[in-house]
Amino acid sequence: MNFVVAPPAVTSIPVSGSDDRFPVRRVFCVGRNYEAHAREMGRDPTREPPFFFTKPADAVVPNGAAVPYPPETKNLHHEIELVVAIGKDGFEIPEDKALDHVFGYAVGIDLTRRDLQFAARDLGRPWDWGKAFDNSAPIAPLQPAARIGHPAKGRIWLSVNGAIRQDADIADLIWSVPEIVSICSRSMRLKAGDIIMTGTPAGVGAMAAGDKVEGGVDGVGTISITIAPPAK
Ligand code: MN
Repeated sequence: MNFVVAPPAVTSIPVSGSDDRFPVRRVFCVGRNYEAHAREMGRDPTREPPFFFTKPADAVVPNGAAVPYPPETKNLHHEIELVVAIGKDGFEIPEDKALDHVFGYAVGIDLTRRDLQFAARDLGRPWDWGKAFDNSAPIAPLQPAARIGHPAKGRIWLSVNGAIRQDADIADLIWSVPEIVSICSRSMRLKAGDIIMTGTPAGVGAMAAGDKVEGGVDGVGTISITIAPPAK
């Protein structure tokens, strides 16, 4: 049997402290999961049910990446996020069992073409062109829960060229990690290799080519990328 084109390589994330890698199957993202960010997006931050969007697995790029400024946007935004890596399949996972399905955690950035996202939103169209573009998911090495536990509080921050833009605490997540895993698993059979980006706090903003972007979550790690000139 021959593939008629070369099959895609498996995207993977390094596991911190080892030579192991975590293969990425799907990337789920939670929208508006911190109150102050919901407000800055012009939305009511009351506890409406969480909603999800996705990115392709091969949008994941590693810590240290030089991300080319993407096409078709004049408003590329950073969203620093706690990332959850699913290590065990599950469907309709109860909240009190949800953490059993988590392999580990990482720091990630949900890169967003905000102008395209808002244009789609205002027309009632899908968000994909604003969210699911090439290189749109920089993710730092995973920290196994077996080593760091399941962080429920800790500073989450992001800076651009050394100036702090986002500064909050993951304790302020509207929907907690167990709730997100449980709710997502009612709509999708979660599979080992899936990752969930849990949403960003307030302070999102624009970046330009040449910017150095750093961020972190206390107890999980840090991430650093640069925004490069547009790809040719
Ligand atoms: Mn986000």
